[in-house]
Amino acid sequence: PLPVVAIVGRPNVGKSTLVNRILGRRAAVVQDVPGVTRDRISYEALWNGKRFTVMDTGGWDPKATGIGASITRQAQFAMETADVIVLVVDSQVGATDTDLAAARVLRRSDRPVILVANKVDDERSEANVAELWSLGLGEPQPVSALHGRSSGDLLDLVLDAM
Ligand code: GDP
Ligand code: MG
Repeated sequence: PLPVVAIVGRPNVGKSTLVNRILGRRAAVVQDVPGVTRDRISYEALWNGKRFTVMDTGGWDPKATGIGASITRQAQFAMETADVIVLVVDSQVGATDTDLAAARVLRRSDRPVILVANKVDDERSEANVAELWSLGLGEPQPVSALHGRSSGDLLDLVLDAM
């Protein structure tokens, strides 16, 4: 089986956009309306000659009560099934309580966790990134999933972590 990279995070941070960026095509559904992605969808990806599975997560877990519980479950599932976990946060919004809840779970992961500061569309937006150290997951990696800014660097990191 291929190594699995799980993309987790609260709705609307750009998980599906990042998955499409990784795939180099529009396979995952991107929506302005939060919670559009069905529970978990896996795709086969290729970077630098290495094949892996990328898992887009999201949606609303009907068994969980509230978004916080939903994210916690998502993070726990990722820790059980993925080889590398990517937590995506919206750098334009900053760390929310939901992001903190996910980070708290993922800090206990024995699998590598990469923190992505998404929506860093230009140099000016880099200023929003440093505060995300507060999530306790190490260095936030600035990317723009929408424009592809630094997404290659992120993929290099992900493959190094496998
Ligand atoms: P998901 O719910 O986490 O899967 O988020 P989506 O991928 O569906 O994206 C939610 C919204 O954020 C969409 O309107 C995207 O176009 C937008 N978005 C995603 N990535 C970026 C980015 O890097 N920069 C900006 N400005 N918008 C983004
Ligand atoms: Mg999505």
